[in-house]
This record gives sequence, structure tokens and C-alpha cells, in this order.
Amino acid sequence: MTESAVPFRVLPQLTDRNRPFWTGGGAGELRFLRCDRCGYLVHPPAPICPRDYHRELTWTPVSGKARVATFTVNHQPWMPYPPVPYVVAIVEIAEQPAVRLMTNIVGCAPDAVRIGMPVRVDIEHHPDPEGDVWLPLFEPDPAAEA
Ligand SMILES: [Zn+2]
Repeated sequence: MTESAVPFRVLPQLTDRNRPFWTGGGAGELRFLRCDRCGYLVHPPAPICPRDYHRELTWTPVSGKARVATFTVNHQPWMPYPPVPYVVAIVEIAEQPAVRLMTNIVGCAPDAVRIGMPVRVDIEHHPDPEGDVWLPLFEPDPAAEA
């Protein structure tokens, strides 16, 4: 997507804790905090692993592959963008399905979306004077259809 085509979005407020998540797309990465001891992915970002209470966590990229856990099709134009109808979904990332992201499914018709559908991250860059943000949207993953 070209910069001039970047649509309106309500953007997250960046904090020291969440900035690596919302800016990972600048490096082409979907990334999460990963526990250095047990490998658990901690999302939303937190200072401690909820599984073994370890305090050393490292931002780590994942594959960007996921599955649609659930979704709805929005028909009400609440904001100038995206155009209706559009899909609001919760996806489970491949590396740890307990890590779920609220997102939009793009790149296909809303009525083509199914629960369990394989998707892959499609990062949307938003230049912003407060700090650029890269939103992890998801699109159908044809490589995973089998
Ligand atoms: Zn841990």
C-alpha cells in the first residue's frame, strides 16, 4: 500500500511497554514478548511471565501465520474507514494459539471468512507525528490451504 493510500484509523497509544509490538512491522515483523526461560509468549506485554514468573522477556518475531478463532461482519459505518462491510476478527497465532489478536481480515470478501481459516499477517503502516504505527491485519494464507 502506498503512503498516500493509508486510510484513517484510530491508532493505539504507544507506551514504553507496547511500542515494540506496534512498531515491529517497521522491521517486517509481528513480534511478541517471549519468556527467556520457558518460551511462553506474553501478550499483552507484561513485565513477568504468567507461567513461571520469570522476569526476563525478549521481543521475538513470529511467523505471522494464524487462524481465525472467531469473527463478525460489521455493516455499520461507525467511522470514515474502513468501508463497510468489513470483518472484525480474533485470530490465534500459529506459535501459541492462546495468543489472540483483535484485527481485521483483509484481502478477501467478508463472506469468504470462516472460523479456522488460515491467515497471515498483512502489516498496515500508519505514519504519525506521535510515532509511526504498524497495524497487524490479516489476509487469507493460500500457502496454508490444504
Ligand atoms: Zn516463562
